[in-house]
Amino acid sequence: MLTNDVLAAWDRESFFHPSTHLGQHARGEAPGRVMRTAEGVHVTDRDGVRLLDAFAGLYCVNVGYGRQEIAEAIAEQARELAYYHAYVGHGTEVSIRLAKMIMDRAPDHMARVYFGLGGSDANETNVKLVWHYNNLLGRPEKKKIVSRWRGYHGSGLMTGSLTGLKLFHERFDLPLAGVLHTEAPYFYRRANRSMDEAAFSAHCAAELEAMILREGPETVAAFIGEPALGTGGLVPPPEGYWAAIQAVLEKYDVLLIADEVVTGFGRLGAMWGSELYGMRPDLITIAKGLTSAYAPLSGSIVSRRMWDVLAKGTDEHGPIGHGWTYSAHPVSAAAGVANLELLDRLELIENVRAVGPTLIEGLRGALADHPNVGEIRGEGLLAALELVEDRGANGDAPVFFDPARKIGPAVAAAMLRRGVISRAMPQGDIIGFAPPFCLTAAQARTVVAATVEAVAEVLG
Ligand code: PLP
Repeated sequence: MLTNDVLAAWDRESFFHPSTHLGQHARGEAPGRVMRTAEGVHVTDRDGVRLLDAFAGLYCVNVGYGRQEIAEAIAEQARELAYYHAYVGHGTEVSIRLAKMIMDRAPDHMARVYFGLGGSDANETNVKLVWHYNNLLGRPEKKKIVSRWRGYHGSGLMTGSLTGLKLFHERFDLPLAGVLHTEAPYFYRRANRSMDEAAFSAHCAAELEAMILREGPETVAAFIGEPALGTGGLVPPPEGYWAAIQAVLEKYDVLLIADEVVTGFGRLGAMWGSELYGMRPDLITIAKGLTSAYAPLSGSIVSRRMWDVLAKGTDEHGPIGHGWTYSAHPVSAAAGVANLELLDRLELIENVRAVGPTLIEGLRGALADHPNVGEIRGEGLLAALELVEDRGANGDAPVFFDPARKIGPAVAAAMLRRGVISRAMPQGDIIGFAPPFCLTAAQARTVVAATVEAVAEVLG
């Protein structure tokens, strides 16, 4: 085995890491970590340090690490048929089986699933399908896509544009034209403190309607949103939000894309965030939880209303000109089938519902009164702790820490020293939790205890 020194040198010299401070990494100053093995909710690095991963990688290893059933399914598929493409109606038994399993679980009004590799390319597909759909319907000017500030939809050219975080735009010449951002459904950070949740939802819907009217409804094609905001802060929607937004979308014939890359397949304690919040999407983006990250795979689930138009379009114009070499890759599909079977057999979504409150209520019970804890929020096994300099008395706005103080990263680092991986979310001092679904109540209490100690260490 390579020594740690050699490996670190090769890493610094050869590896361009995503979302990384390149200079610090090249100089060996970045706090990276090389993992070696994992089991259940624990990962172990090359030095033998075992950590409870309360963020499931990048909230993707939903069934937990080390699942031999998935590893075996991948190996067997790779031996039998590592690859065949899906173009021109081709396929493999396993990719067809997975498509059927997804559609059996999808909301009733959905018709087909298109496969990709990751969440970004699936959203890229979604935008192309929306444009194509409107071209087929003879309304070529109806193309703009509305996203939300703090939404996260990937980091490609179009999807990085849809993402509503400045870090993903600045110095990349994004967002591209035709992408609009509207208000984030982030009640805790609302500007008008006199609004209650329902009034804030109505305000978000009114802002959206004003934007659509300003742009011209004939130019606005779709609205994309995560059922609960993810990377932008882990924020469940305020009361009545999706009903209010959907009323506006229906009024102006604007399609709804539910980006369920994080929420799909049970993260919130329901199969879909859409189901939990009463959304009726035209497209659903899936990735992470589809294979629990044992192999890369994503999908765009298309509604019947869109499917009918797309299918008729090919009768008129010939095959649809959109495809990836690795669409429906059989090795990834094998991971997907085994993963969804495990999710059912081990009743893991039931466990999300059972253990989620131990985590969220545990955090609330231990930290709600801390003067620097602004909000503790979550749903299922997606939770956040938002840290503030001053909570604001008598309904005043909270005062947030100067980002330069890096309070969030300091708390996450203090948790790591206590053996728990959380995630300092990229915008705001927000500590994120999204553990594997197999988390036990005792492990949830371990996460809470590490959080309490870390907050005390950093903030007193
Ligand atoms: N959409 C959402 C909601 C996500 O959280 C992510 C990734 O975190 C993506 C899309 C992009 O997925 P990927 O990183 O697989 O391209």
